[in-house]
Order: sequence, then C-alpha cells, then structure tokens
Amino acid sequence: MEMSSVISPPLKLATIKDMKTTNGLIQNKNVSSFIKHIRSIVESSGVKFVLAPVKYLIISSEGRIRCNGYFDSEELTLKCAINKPILEWLPVLIHEYSHFEQWKENCPSWRHIEMNGKDVSSDMFLWIKDKKVADVRLRKIINRVRNCELDCEKRVVSNIRKFKLPIDILS
Ligand SMILES: [Zn+2]
Repeated sequence: MEMSSVISPPLKLATIKDMKTTNGLIQNKNVSSFIKHIRSIVESSGVKFVLAPVKYLIISSEGRIRCNGYFDSEELTLKCAINKPILEWLPVLIHEYSHFEQWKENCPSWRHIEMNGKDVSSDMFLWIKDKKVADVRLRKIINRVRNCELDCEKRVVSNIRKFKLPIDILS
C-alpha cells in the first residue's frame, strides 16, 4: 500500500531552528545522524531509501498524482523530494519514515488499510481524483486512513523527541 504526503500534510507549522544547509549538506548534527540512522534501518529491511533532488514526486500508480514524499510497501520504497528548504522536506521525511515503522511493525492501523484484501488507500486517491466511490465504502476508507494517519503522527512526535530533531512540536 501507498501512503503519501499528498493526503496528509505532516506536522503543521513545524519550525526548524538552528538549521543551515551548505551545498545541500545538512549542518545540524541531530538531523544528519537521524538520516544516517533511518537510512540504515530502512535499507536493512529491504526497502529503498531515496532523497531525490527534485521539487516533487509523481506517483504513477495513482493517476500521476504529485506529492512531496511517500512510503510504498509494494514498491518497497521510501522516497522524499528534497530540492527545497529543509524546513519543508524534513517533516515529510519523518512522516513517511513513521509509515515505514507502521508497516515494519505491521501495526493494527496499518493492517486495517486493507479491506477485503484490497488496499483502500487506492480508492482514496480515486476519490481525490474525482472518481466515484460508494458513500458507505468511502466513510469506512476515510475512517481507516484517518486512524492510520493519527497513529503515524504520534510516531512522528516520538521520533522528533527520540532523535532530538530541531522541530518545534508544540507549534
Ligand atoms: Zn501519512
């Protein structure tokens, strides 16, 4: 299944303090060790980890929808577009990494994204693209996706704390 930062913007108004980049290199020690750490966890789980030097990504499997980052458990890829201020892409990376954690743990809210053996997030993308989806089904889908995103956001906050990332979680 596919969870991208197009339906779920990461933490609102995240402010990153003391952050500088020089020639694309991250100068904040906690951020660079966070990235090093998650890259190794992600890759050792057989998932591709890509920080792409582009402004946005295109999900071809979902009707060529644009997004800032995604984790796809079928493609086995965690990808984030980073040709923009770090203030904009770091929260996306933390969010998509937290989806990876849900998948790796196979937590209930991640498992429930599947309904009768079918990935419901695809229907959500269809709906975003103005395709018709039955109301009852849509309500179920939205509930499940919302639960999954809520669980993800809790993980985001705990990852920010755990890695002491310079993001203000109160704002
Ligand atoms: Zn999400």
